[in-house]
Amino acid sequence: MALVIDGKATSQAIKDELKLEVARLSEAGKPVPCLAVVLVGEDPASKVYVKNKKNACAYIGIESRSIELPDQTSEETLLGIIDELNADPSVNGILVQLPLPLHIDEDRVIERISPDKDVDGFNPLNAGRLFTGRPGFVSCTPAGIVELLKRHNIEIAGKHCVVVGRSNIVGKPMALLMLRENATVTVCHSKTVNLKEITSQADILICAIGKPRFFTADYVKEGAVVVDVGIHRMEDGKLCGDVRYDEVEPKCSAITPVPGGVGPMTIAMLMKNCVEAV
Ligand code: NDP
Repeated sequence: MALVIDGKATSQAIKDELKLEVARLSEAGKPVPCLAVVLVGEDPASKVYVKNKKNACAYIGIESRSIELPDQTSEETLLGIIDELNADPSVNGILVQLPLPLHIDEDRVIERISPDKDVDGFNPLNAGRLFTGRPGFVSCTPAGIVELLKRHNIEIAGKHCVVVGRSNIVGKPMALLMLRENATVTVCHSKTVNLKEITSQADILICAIGKPRFFTADYVKEGAVVVDVGIHRMEDGKLCGDVRYDEVEPKCSAITPVPGGVGPMTIAMLMKNCVEAV
């Protein structure tokens, strides 16, 4: 039977460690970390994400400042607010909840966030730091996956890691992080020919394509470690990932479930970045 990699418990452990760290900082007379969360519009899913982030801040002892703007907010106004937050010394981290309304250029907004407060790790300077192996904020989902593997004693060095998906927030930083951990990395995407042949060579298979239950057992090598990044709500209201858990689990040595795998780690790593920003 495969080891079920418990993201919920790992995320809780990280949040408890951060809570102690914040208390220690405060005893040493350091300011309480402060995260500014900017939400534009009324997207219900975004509202839930923002609420979860605020709850995590409250648990750890991080101050969260909420800036909620109407859907029709102009790009100029949003950029002006980011400039103010960049200049405010009491704010350590800035998070702009994505997606933004269509009339706002997301890339411009992300580029405007000071790289030193970019706790999501999306600013091109931080992406470049990861590319060149220098310290900087790293995108939270891939950083959480590495943390999850390490805390479950899964060896990465020397393993063949296949990452399926090449987005800027998951696939690409994931591949770079696994390379940094000395894996041999293959990146696949929608134009990859013979995907199954490649994924079935993976010691560690990371699935991040956003297609519900796409990866069947024949995409997976016997004994592989499978990380399912996808998250989808099905018609019956249940959550599922990119992987057919029921048929893949018996074949692999370890697997992340959905829910309770990668998802909870994303917020934990965001909190870690906020504390590090201090
Ligand atoms: P994107 O849609 O930005 O990227 C999807 C990637 O998958 C693209 O690179 C695309 O290739 C590739 N792809 C799509 N279809 C196929 C296919 N049939 N075969 C091979 N490759 C394919 O998604 P994200 O990276 O943002 O997210 C991926 C999944 O992870 C989503 O389900 C998302 O909800 C989830 N997610 C979960 C998080 C969490 O905290 N658990 C956080 C972030 C994302 P191409 O580049 O060629 O188009």
